[in-house]
Amino acid sequence: MKAVRVHEFGGPEVLQWEDMETPKPGPSEVLVWIHAAGVNPVETYIRAGTYARLPELPYTPGNDGAGVVEQVGADVTEFKAGDHVYTAGSLTGTYAEFALCRKEQVHPLPANVSFAQGAAIGTPYATAYRGLLQRAVAKPGETVLVHGASGAVGTAAVQLARANGLRVFGTAGSDQGLKLACEQGTHGVFDHRAPDHFEEVMKATGGRGVDIIVEMLANVNLGKDLKILAKRGRVVIIGSRGPVEINPRDTMQRDADIRGMILPNTPPVEMASIHAGLVAGLENGTLRPVIGKEFALAEAAEAHRAVMKPGALGKIVLVPSK
Ligand code: NAP
Repeated sequence: MKAVRVHEFGGPEVLQWEDMETPKPGPSEVLVWIHAAGVNPVETYIRAGTYARLPELPYTPGNDGAGVVEQVGADVTEFKAGDHVYTAGSLTGTYAEFALCRKEQVHPLPANVSFAQGAAIGTPYATAYRGLLQRAVAKPGETVLVHGASGAVGTAAVQLARANGLRVFGTAGSDQGLKLACEQGTHGVFDHRAPDHFEEVMKATGGRGVDIIVEMLANVNLGKDLKILAKRGRVVIIGSRGPVEINPRDTMQRDADIRGMILPNTPPVEMASIHAGLVAGLENGTLRPVIGKEFALAEAAEAHRAVMKPGALGKIVLVPSK
């Protein structure tokens, strides 16, 4: 098979398109013929060698993918060859024509969901679900600000919040991003390039503040986020690219919580619950992954450059050929 391989950490150019042996499934493993692979910012941090947990070299990047089951191990009864599935994690990497997964990393892809959309679920939707529903414990009737509602996690968070009966505000940093956030069902959108957007959010809540902030860039926003929280408000930190100064008194006045998360910390039982919820939402149409850009698998370097640029519009995916 062909796969993207990384032999040394570095810039996007270290992503090489090479021939390699197609893996064979062990007893409880599933081999998936990848029809689309999701590109996440974390894969650029790993490729650059700057992430806390790094794989051994050489490796094939990617946790998220969707495709058709090619072969299953002897102990796998949940899937059979020909099933349409999405992956949330992989043993051998999804930036490849085939990916080997543990059976727990594979989930059924509903018939109304495309392979490209399937590649948007594993990290972005699971992260949005974990952040909003398990870490922030969002309840119907609460108000949430999705700070960064134009990207892969943000669009997922908006759809999940709407499906769960929240009042939803979102931000984006481009006109197209603001339009996209609106289309996902937000009750109001704000431009995070405008320094006064925090005051505008506050006004939109009638001065009460928001119950939850789902934060994609905490190093820029956290200090001001704390000032627009309602009493007992929660900020869930999903993304941060550096340090930030906060005033702890802002949390004291509100009995507010700052809750960090990374998806790999999710206990297996809670992860299984996340995917059960996501599959149900995909089936009933409340969750509809948005695909912003598609690149050929062999052009993974271009996709890595694109995912770190401003102006996000949903998910970036790799497809076998374009
Ligand atoms: P993405 O598709 O590239 O989206 C990035 C989002 O951040 C866009 O909506 C972007 O808006 C927004 N943004 C840019 N400047 C902002 C600002 N000043 N304030 C608020 N938002 C701003 O990336 P993604 O896949 O959604 O991931 C989002 C972040 O979460 C990344 O940092 C990623 O590494 C992290 N993440 C963490 C976990 C975890 O387990 N904790 C899991 C997945 C992702 P515009 O482009 O419209 O400006």
